[in-house]
Amino acid sequence: MRHVVIVGAGPGGLATAMLLAAAGARVTILERQPRLGGRSGTIEADGFRFDIGPTFFLYPRPLQDIFRACGRRLEECVDLLRLDPQYHLRFEDGQEIHATSQLERMQAEIRRFAPADAEALPQFMADNRRKLAAFRPVLERPFTSLSAFLDPAVIKALALLRPTRSVDSDLTRHFKDSRVRLAFSFQSKYLGMSPFQCPSLFTILSFIEYEYGVFHPRGGCGAVMQAMAAAAGEMGAEIRLADPVQEILFKGRRAVGVRTEAGTELRADALVLNADFAHAMTALVPDRLRRRWTNRRLAGKKFSCSTFMMYLGVDGRFPDLAHHTIWLAHDYARNIAEIQTGRSLPVNPSFYVQNACATDPGQAPDGCSALYVLVPVAHRTPHIDWAARRAEFRALAFRQLTRIGLPADLERRIRFERIVTPADWEQDMAIHRGATFNLAHSMDQMLHLRPHNQFEDLEGVYLVGGGTHPGSGLPAIFESARITARLVSGNLGLGQLRMAAE
Ligand SMILES: Cc1cc2nc3c(=O)[nH]c(=O)nc-3n(C[C@H](O)[C@H](O)[C@H](O)COP(=O)(O)OP(=O)(O)OC[C@H]3O[C@@H](n4cnc5c(N)ncnc54)[C@H](O)[C@@H]3O)c2cc1C
Repeated sequence: MRHVVIVGAGPGGLATAMLLAAAGARVTILERQPRLGGRSGTIEADGFRFDIGPTFFLYPRPLQDIFRACGRRLEECVDLLRLDPQYHLRFEDGQEIHATSQLERMQAEIRRFAPADAEALPQFMADNRRKLAAFRPVLERPFTSLSAFLDPAVIKALALLRPTRSVDSDLTRHFKDSRVRLAFSFQSKYLGMSPFQCPSLFTILSFIEYEYGVFHPRGGCGAVMQAMAAAAGEMGAEIRLADPVQEILFKGRRAVGVRTEAGTELRADALVLNADFAHAMTALVPDRLRRRWTNRRLAGKKFSCSTFMMYLGVDGRFPDLAHHTIWLAHDYARNIAEIQTGRSLPVNPSFYVQNACATDPGQAPDGCSALYVLVPVAHRTPHIDWAARRAEFRALAFRQLTRIGLPADLERRIRFERIVTPADWEQDMAIHRGATFNLAHSMDQMLHLRPHNQFEDLEGVYLVGGGTHPGSGLPAIFESARITARLVSGNLGLGQLRMAAE
């Protein structure tokens, strides 16, 4: 039986484990943390439960296909609650949008302050429906060589790409009001990018929300990770937690196994890296073995932004606070520039709050709330000393929270608190520069220019997760798992994977 070792039990690693176990491989996942899910894991303390990272579960289709390929149904393993309104957008000038995928209601929301833009919504949807249909084959196939560009489906899709346009500038074709454009472009932040720089392809992100919905898995996105781990386990995969890989074992350029921190050696016919790409390269693969992704090259790459997080278990429920609230600063462009340059901390940051108990009261003890606060900030740079600035930025974050109606005495209600800064993402979560959304998704770091799913610098090594093709965000990560599992399966001569994309 062929043995595949997967380094990391994040969503990418778990999905790959499911597929390869279904294809008949012996699968071992080694995870450095004592819990599952990586950035999509769960913090559980004092009766409160928080997702660490993802809170927007979008476009379930790739994961549904993965479950189906493993003879299961996602909906039977996880309770997916569709949110309506899907989120509440609040602008600093007092304007707001209760975003809903009921398009007539959504048009009424926009019409209150931008009547012409309300009429443009159907065209935006139609254009992006076409764009996603054209791009799906691109996102579902590997870009391991330039010949991928000769595929007629790829040629057709690239014709729609508008490579010189950003998400924001592309949206000007539909929406004149900058707040409406922001409502359909802030999603670039899911990739850790500015809507003023994010390639226009990614107008499909907001389209996907309106077309397919925004879901909350009961118990949080961590519940999805648990369901995946359970499925992988039932098919024979072994998941070893708190068992970090210290070294990859090579014969020449071929990876033949790993050595863990505990000193155990595991031999593998194929090695799948789910660990953060740039971290895994610098920590596990000697620079001399790398051709394209050397330390010097990596130092010159663009990385996503980071996030300042507060996970707050507090007394009281907040019935007027939506499940998801996004507060957008009037000078959004300045806020973005502060995040991009990383020279100073944002002075009036935009932010996002999840009040999970609005939909899922089980996330906190009776009469309490689990509040998840995310403030986008620069990835770690030498200009910001987080150890010194943490308390000051925390105080600013609490002041900002009053802008969405949270009480000024919120701090006094705290029963549980955890803060995560870019420095913590880097040190505790092993994320290069604390760039929470991996390598940036600029045109020069996408498709074949992103690290390949079958890793080009080494033999027998594959990548899965946000650092490889097609990119970050759960749907893309599940897509990367399908691509990688097919490559491993084909190369090792495993069983056929029955997947809708084939
Ligand atoms: C704050 C935040 C919010 C996000 N919000 C959303 C959202 O709303 N919707 C969405 O779709 N996406 C969101 N994402 C993006 C993305 O979905 C998650 O980051 C996702 O968890 C990334 O998955 P991954 O498979 O790339 O790997 P990770 O989740 O990074 O998992 C990699 C695993 O590898 C392990 N590892 C590393 N080194 C070793 C080693 N040496 N040995 C063994 N194990 C190792 C790590 O401990 C980790 O468990 C968010 C991310 C963050 C950080």
